[in-house]
Amino acid sequence: MVKFKIVIVGAGPAGYFTAQAFQNAQTEDIKFAIDMIERLPTPWGLVRSGVAPDHPKIKTVSKVFEKIAKEPNFRLFANVELGKDVSLKDLRDQYDAVVLSTGASKGRKLGVPGEDLTNSLSAADFVPWYNSHPDYVNTEVDLSCDTAVVIGAGNVAMDVARILAIDPTELDPTDIADHALSKLKQSNIRTVIICGRRGPEYAAFTAPELRDLPKLENTDVYVDSNQIQEAELRIASLIEIEKDLRNNLEVMRLIADQSKKGVDRKLEIKFLSTPIEFKGNSKIEEVIFAQNKVENGKVVPSGEKFSIKCGLVISAIGYDSVEYPGITIQNGRINNIAGHVEHNLYTTGWAKRGPTGVIGTNKSDSTDVVELIIENLKEPKLSEGITSLLKSGHQVIDQLAWEKINASEVISGEIAGKPRVKEIKRDKLINIGLN
Ligand code: NAP
Repeated sequence: MVKFKIVIVGAGPAGYFTAQAFQNAQTEDIKFAIDMIERLPTPWGLVRSGVAPDHPKIKTVSKVFEKIAKEPNFRLFANVELGKDVSLKDLRDQYDAVVLSTGASKGRKLGVPGEDLTNSLSAADFVPWYNSHPDYVNTEVDLSCDTAVVIGAGNVAMDVARILAIDPTELDPTDIADHALSKLKQSNIRTVIICGRRGPEYAAFTAPELRDLPKLENTDVYVDSNQIQEAELRIASLIEIEKDLRNNLEVMRLIADQSKKGVDRKLEIKFLSTPIEFKGNSKIEEVIFAQNKVENGKVVPSGEKFSIKCGLVISAIGYDSVEYPGITIQNGRINNIAGHVEHNLYTTGWAKRGPTGVIGTNKSDSTDVVELIIENLKEPKLSEGITSLLKSGHQVIDQLAWEKINASEVISGEIAGKPRVKEIKRDKLINIGLN
């Protein structure tokens, strides 16, 4: 029997599914000792700091993560940062394979004039703010205006728009950050407009997320029925219409035709609108859009412009991976071929393929990379692994410490009538875990 040492960097969905793939690949002859390092004192990545608080079902995947973590060949080392507490070179020297599952946390920029005006934010800052990520609790968000614009027609744009447009009392029973909930309760925003640059047939929303919109109790949702009809006509000539596209358009048509409740909260989805300039006197006041049209199957500017007066803009147009020493980022992701970066260095998840796919996508993706890793493994190294690399006294949050944090948050949640109350301060999280 041979036993290989694997280290996974990043305790998000891609990291856990990578660990699971190694666990599933074990035989009588080949075993794996899996160490997972994570820079935050808490694991679960986007399941904790990305998934919308009003989508608790999606978060139940954390039960799968905890099952993986309970396996005897798995160890968690949270509060350990690559590049600060351990170097990539040291990890590569100590382990048979290093897998970078570090995600993509930098919001992409539009590159239009005025984009950096105050209260023009990236979803990459706004989402972790309402989800209690310790590094984003101080994100400055001003909700005193009446209209917010969200750029992008993907599920993140949808999450952000829903959080801004929902009656905040509907968020009371969720695990949204207290600081965000109290700010949302004082918010003056009553109109939220999602702007996609292409037509409804290209929207990156998924149907289950669209179906959630009519369920909002105190928000009316608008989609221009003409835009849907035109999209339906455009796709009618296709020989085969993909099921997902058909479902999406069906839900959008339903939303467009639905009678409205007449409430003062409004969420609108506008298509064929490309932002070309943000205007304001130090703070965002207006977004100028180029109106687009579809010509011979291509989205082109119609030559017309329009503007939306607003006091908040959130851009949700995708993410890039962050750079760190020894890693080359190309087109927003770690430079790799099918997950292979260099000798004994691999990547999975958004760091590997870019910010695409839902949480479950990481399962098959990680399995493919793990198969490749196993093919490439030769002789196991004789080394100590991470314990030899960390300074003595380093405050590691291991699985037991994390379970303490988890239990403490869940207990606080029970008292408050929520699934959990997340602690937002790193030092407090560490204290709870280690005391
Ligand atoms: P996404 O699905 O790729 O959507 C990005 C949107 O931004 C697209 O509509 C894109 O339009 C637009 N965009 C990109 N560059 C732009 C530009 N320069 N100007 C204007 N618009 C621009 O990305 P995402 O919403 O960040 O989501 C990332 C992944 O996480 C997706 O796979 C998503 O499904 C997943 N996710 C899932 C859930 C869920 O399951 N509930 C929730 C959140 C996220 P074009 O199409 O024209 O490029």
